[in-house]
Amino acid sequence: MSSSRRLALFPGSFDPFTNGHLDLARRAAVLFDRVIVAVAHNPAKTSLFTPEERVELIRRAVRPLGNVSAMHFAGLMVDCARDVGAHVIVRGLRAVSDFEFEFQMALMNRRLSPGLEIAFLMPSQEYTYLNSTLIKEVAKHGGRIDGLVPVEVRKALLAKFGRRARRGA
Ligand code: ADP
Repeated sequence: MSSSRRLALFPGSFDPFTNGHLDLARRAAVLFDRVIVAVAHNPAKTSLFTPEERVELIRRAVRPLGNVSAMHFAGLMVDCARDVGAHVIVRGLRAVSDFEFEFQMALMNRRLSPGLEIAFLMPSQEYTYLNSTLIKEVAKHGGRIDGLVPVEVRKALLAKFGRRARRGA
């Protein structure tokens, strides 16, 4: 394997980064020399956090891992992978329900970039039900989210949603 083959790109919305995402980044960090968590900037999609905020929150969460960094990108993930020199894209499979969409995307990405491999990793069972939308919904209504997101993300959610969210924290 050449050195660039040991660089993996982990793309997604990460609005915000959860402990499920962190679990995956941790697994990827063991398998690859370097991992870049890449925040997709899609102006057509409304997001709670700006791409810059998401990148900053990811950087703080992955700092202890040592070989994981974060960036944001616009456009196709295959172009981002090519630009950074990654030959592997890491995505997560939580349940069978993830499969169809991920399968379609993987085949499209392979068509767009034949040299690219897509590696699917499964998170620890305790995170299989976690997703960013659910976290935002719970945080917005003051539910407890500790243990489900990195500490900095929890603080950022409290700051976004204010006093209402603080009740359950
Ligand atoms: P996208 O909009 O690209 O699906 P997400 O931020 O929802 O972005 O997810 C990014 C990647 O992380 C996807 O591959 C997704 O399957 C994976 N993922 C999301 N939530 C979890 C979780 N709880 N555990 C493991 N992987 C997850």
